[in-house]
Amino acid sequence: MPSYLKTMRVMDGAASAQIYEKRWRVLFESDSTWINVCDSDCTIIEANQAGADIMEADSPQQLVGKRLPDMVYGRQSDQVSACEAQLLQARESRSMIELRTFRGNRRWLEVLLVRFPDDEPGEERYFSILSDRTREKEAQEELLQRQKELARIVRINTLGELASGMAHELNQPLAAIQNYIEGCQRRIENSTCEKSDFLFVLEQMAVQINRAVGTLTEVRYFFRKDDSRISTENINDIVNNAVSLWKTLSMSQCTEFHVNLQADLPLVMANSVQIEQVLLNLIRNAEEAVSGGGCEGKIPVITIATEKTEGNMVKISVSDNGSGLPQALEADIWNQFVTTKQDGMGMGLPICRSIIEAHRGQMTASNNERDGGAVFSFTLPAYRPEVDN
Ligand code: ADP
Repeated sequence: MPSYLKTMRVMDGAASAQIYEKRWRVLFESDSTWINVCDSDCTIIEANQAGADIMEADSPQQLVGKRLPDMVYGRQSDQVSACEAQLLQARESRSMIELRTFRGNRRWLEVLLVRFPDDEPGEERYFSILSDRTREKEAQEELLQRQKELARIVRINTLGELASGMAHELNQPLAAIQNYIEGCQRRIENSTCEKSDFLFVLEQMAVQINRAVGTLTEVRYFFRKDDSRISTENINDIVNNAVSLWKTLSMSQCTEFHVNLQADLPLVMANSVQIEQVLLNLIRNAEEAVSGGGCEGKIPVITIATEKTEGNMVKISVSDNGSGLPQALEADIWNQFVTTKQDGMGMGLPICRSIIEAHRGQMTASNNERDGGAVFSFTLPAYRPEVDN
């Protein structure tokens, strides 16, 4: 009799091992979840029919003798050793693994390893219980892919809007360099220059070139291709980057930016490119809301703040003293194609919200009752080393 059945009998003296065995067999053979009995090395000793179905095997027997970590797709990669560590060390915890079936199809499985108490030394046994999560995973991946494509479209749109600012920003150092060159040419022609004059002019040209390179670096960073990586990030750095990029490229000179960043904030788990995109969308909307009346009357102000909030979250808000949310739209602003602007796409806010929700955060909008204008806020979960690694 297997040792785990003996253990079960000890746990309830009234029931016989045979009754337990019958109950266990019915459960094991009829369950739609793939259940294995494994040894301490995760080698399968016994598998049920659901396992054979999920793995497209001819029979459960085909799974016996296989080591679960060895079946993980992409055996070479680091991902496997991480998975192995999860399987062999973090026992009784859940993890996701990707496998290929015997016919080469992809399966995503949630694994739960449960050790059963053993009364025979040297005979450790585990149940590995694998639930098929392939559909959920594929739906999630499709959603992420769509979201990435949408985010790219909005980024390209933002680039279009910022293009004139970028041209202006590059034009200034180029015009300055051209002036310096013409000045040098004139002085050489008139023989009215010293060597030290040239040195000064060359230094000034280098300053202007650095200025142009700085602008291009910021733009290149924003439009870089890798927009899928989630890592630990300092949210204050992301805010500073977004504000600096906006100030560099925006044509509006009137708006005052107040940036109130809480010091010592925890790191967040985020894709910095996407969060920067969200901030740029909110800043652009705020700028459009405050810039209606030019620079006369009240000074247009955009305030960006970060703070730690309840539930181990970090909150970022972008507020303005502009027109406020149009009342008729208040309930609809998160829907696609809702816009009050003549050339608006109505895609900015829905994309921002889907990006934030994919980060497990929340996004809200309200009117600022005291000072007028709108307040858009979103939260991001703080990094938890014990869970997020
Ligand atoms: P778009 O900017 O293309 O219109 P969005 O989805 O970004 O698309 O915004 C939808 C609508 O929400 C805007 O047309 C505007 O009416 C309203 N809105 C967004 N941000 C603000 C804001 N800061 N102040 C006032 N209204 C805003």
